[in-house]
Amino acid sequence: MSSKIFLNNRLVDKADATISVFDHGLLYGDGVFEGIRSYGGLVFKLREHLDRLFESAHTLMLEIPMTKERLEKAVVQTLKANRLKDAYIRLVVTRGVGDLGLDPRKCRQPMLFIIADEIMLYPRAYYEKGLQIATVPTVRNHPEALNPQLKTLNYLNNILAKIEATNAGVDEAILLNSQGYVTECTGENIFYVRGKCIATPPPYVGILRGITRSVVMRIAKELGFSVEEDVFTRHELYTADEVFLTGTAAEIVPVVKIDNRQIGSGKPGKTTRLLTKEFKKLTPKEGVKYDL
Ligand code: PMP
Repeated sequence: MSSKIFLNNRLVDKADATISVFDHGLLYGDGVFEGIRSYGGLVFKLREHLDRLFESAHTLMLEIPMTKERLEKAVVQTLKANRLKDAYIRLVVTRGVGDLGLDPRKCRQPMLFIIADEIMLYPRAYYEKGLQIATVPTVRNHPEALNPQLKTLNYLNNILAKIEATNAGVDEAILLNSQGYVTECTGENIFYVRGKCIATPPPYVGILRGITRSVVMRIAKELGFSVEEDVFTRHELYTADEVFLTGTAAEIVPVVKIDNRQIGSGKPGKTTRLLTKEFKKLTPKEGVKYDL
């Protein structure tokens, strides 16, 4: 069966899912998106993803051409058309077709599409052995320039960092902000564990307010950990008991080496494993249910 893409209010075959070269999403990265996951016929935290999409669009003064309720149905419709119970969903809204200038007012109709595909899982070794990551020269976008809280189609900051991580021979990058404080990785938030305390940077240092991040913070509190949003440097990471990353695609990934310093025992830690176990219990429960 050829896969179906939801494009501007209807389902089309993948081969027909094309957009114009004059679309400002392509010409200027002018647009917003979400990466969402479904687990066993339940779209995990769909409402939270739609809220974040609408918030990013609001700041960009980009009108999403659909209500949240209709969009929720469109996501489910796309999953059903592709007969997917466990999926990765990419929801994109671009400014639409304009002229070659920047002016968004020339773009009369935003473009909306939804892709639902099999989830491409991260290599098992990432979870079993843990990741090696490194801080990179590129700093995270300054919040007064392009606030990392906006999930926009302009991911070049993250892509540069990813290239630098690859050049350094590690799996992922840590981006610092312009003051040297830890922000996040290229597509994941970062946490450290010290005893019964778990810390992660606050949004104002320049991060995407991750949905997995909020879920993990909640689980950790319920398990009796003290959870802090704290501003910290690399030193706190180097000397932590454990470090892990969170994201929709990655879920929770242990980190065992940063800038060549071993973290804790050098193996995925017990708190990271406990949080992963609790997170996995939750994913088939919280979200919007659908039947194929
Ligand atoms: N930071 C960045 C830069 C991201 O792109 C993402 C999402 N891929 C995250 C953090 C994690 O956010 P979420 O848990 O909502 O997927």
